[in-house]
Amino acid sequence: MSNGWYYAHDAKKIGPYSPQQLRELADAGTILATDTVWKEGVTQGVRASRVKNLFAPIAAAASLPSALDEGEMPTLAALVPYVKEAIAAETIPASAPPVLVAENAVSALKAKAAAPSSPTKAPSKGRAVAIRGADIVSQDGTQAKYRMKCVTCGHHDSSCHALTITNKTFKKSFFCPKCRKRREVSIQCQLR
Ligand SMILES: [Zn+2]
Repeated sequence: MSNGWYYAHDAKKIGPYSPQQLRELADAGTILATDTVWKEGVTQGVRASRVKNLFAPIAAAASLPSALDEGEMPTLAALVPYVKEAIAAETIPASAPPVLVAENAVSALKAKAAAPSSPTKAPSKGRAVAIRGADIVSQDGTQAKYRMKCVTCGHHDSSCHALTITNKTFKKSFFCPKCRKRREVSIQCQLR
């Protein structure tokens, strides 16, 4: 199996080159953005300009972890999976360029930071409200933690329990050791 790369210039197919050589040729201006590049064994080539990182500034390619780890100039080798994908699809998938992925991640983080922080932290998909006989300790939209409480004397059950929030009222009962009676627990749950 060869990892040869070809490029076509003036209707002539030239190669094979290693990914490193291909990158060097692009850097040197031998391969033009209007040329077509192929990977060996792939019948359909792709326009060199569409292989984004082939002509990308160093800053873009340098964001690749492998390039940073080696502490040297990034090579096309690191980009081969993306180039391959691009060739297979004859386009650059939106997810392909590492720079874009990084940008998306950054904007997603920014959006998250800008969003008003809710008291429950996590996005709420549902909500639990204690109607009687319980205190909600915490909830994350999916699960709620509660402590049962005697409606008469206010005695709290020592342990915390969890319930999954669904669209119905959660009912339970517990035995209050102080009153020596069974007490009702009712927690209203609602999905959004
Ligand atoms: Zn009680």
